[in-house]
Amino acid sequence: MKFSNYFSPTLNENPAEAEIISHKLMIRAGLVKQASAGIYSWLPLGLKVLKNIEQIVREEQNKAGAIEILMPTIQSADLWIKSGRYKDYGKEMLRIQDRSGREMLYGPTNEELITDIFQSYVNSYKDLPLNLYHTQWKFRDEVRPRFGVMRGREFLMKDNYSFDLSQEEAKISYDKMFTAYIKTFLRMGLTPISLRADTGPIGGDLSHEFQILAKTGESTLYYDKELETLDPEKIEPEKLQSYYAAVDDIHDEKNYPINQDQLKISKGIEVGHIFYFGTKYSEKLGAYVQDNKGEKRLVHMGSYGIGISRLVGAIIEAFHDDRGIIWPIPVAPFHISLINLMTEDDKCNEVSENLYNNLVKKNIEVLYDDRKFSMGKKLSDNDLIGIPYQIIIGKRDLKENLIEVKDRKTYESQKLNPDQAFNFLINEINSKI
Ligand code: ATP
Ligand code: MG
Repeated sequence: MKFSNYFSPTLNENPAEAEIISHKLMIRAGLVKQASAGIYSWLPLGLKVLKNIEQIVREEQNKAGAIEILMPTIQSADLWIKSGRYKDYGKEMLRIQDRSGREMLYGPTNEELITDIFQSYVNSYKDLPLNLYHTQWKFRDEVRPRFGVMRGREFLMKDNYSFDLSQEEAKISYDKMFTAYIKTFLRMGLTPISLRADTGPIGGDLSHEFQILAKTGESTLYYDKELETLDPEKIEPEKLQSYYAAVDDIHDEKNYPINQDQLKISKGIEVGHIFYFGTKYSEKLGAYVQDNKGEKRLVHMGSYGIGISRLVGAIIEAFHDDRGIIWPIPVAPFHISLINLMTEDDKCNEVSENLYNNLVKKNIEVLYDDRKFSMGKKLSDNDLIGIPYQIIIGKRDLKENLIEVKDRKTYESQKLNPDQAFNFLINEINSKI
């Protein structure tokens, strides 16, 4: 993509309304624009990151055996009245009337709708286990929408729902999702910490929250340091669930069940939450299956959520410096910023265009900064946007057939000739996607 043809508005000043770093950077780098309180338009760079995150989540869900569907944002109140949550959800639910006065709502979550889909089609234990998911916008009229996309009113969530014949089988489904969640966050370059959580308004018996480590996170986590070093190929859910981990309001400073030298204290941000809630919704909405003896049994359910739009902010909280964002390669909007410092110089243009075309042919995503701006503005804009690698092409280095390749994270740079730079970057990027 040529920057001059792109739409990526950057701001030099910190926006007054933003309190936390990710919100400031998202506005300054032109990722989102607030449409109204807690509701955002996604601009091209922000949308690319959102889609990348959604895709990683999707791939890990599919690998774990979940099946994708799509449920609507607007739901009828009927099922919610049946489940009892139409009243319980209170003011967080956005209620709407259609033209004939029917009560509708903008879905804050989907347990009711999915249970209804299930009970319409599934009657036999032979169709279990079943795990269905979708990625859809939710609306919760939060008391205090803040921190940009981290606590919005409209936000994108991947939510899925598992159906099993018994509690034991439901725990197997739960553990599969637990494992998938850890893998998902590790793939994004994050460090997920799983904590036993309160089940809250969803209700039920078993629940884990997934927080990712970020110095600027809102919660303080106390946990066994083993949770920090996980091999994605060797996730053992039972074992991980047995490690100590607690948020500050639960952690008891004097009596925690591990040695002090095993205890780590870090800041975190909640990005996912999973629940096993047994037959709570199947009872209310009548979701039964026949077991192998022909007896009717209530189905055991779990629900699992990942805050896709919150993750965009959370990843920035985890990875940034004074200059701007530092995207991990798997979610980055582009892999390389190709910065042509002298767009009036024929040689700079020729080398830049060649490299750009060759990289694009190799499916590398390049944002080619061919804008007619000062060097300073181009360098600071690209640092702000935070694409993981930069190629900087200037007249002086080109006299010796050299260009600069810079790592946005370490800020280390090397001078290479264009062919070496091409090979180096192809290898680097392909090994990390
Ligand atoms: P919180 O305690 O932060 O309000 P929750 O327990 O209400 O979260 P869930 O209903 O479990 O959240 O939703 C699953 C995930 O959706 C959360 O882990 C979070 O990542 C995301 N999420 C929830 N509320 C919001 C919001 N207002 N804005 C953005 N993401 C959200
Ligand atoms: Mg909430």
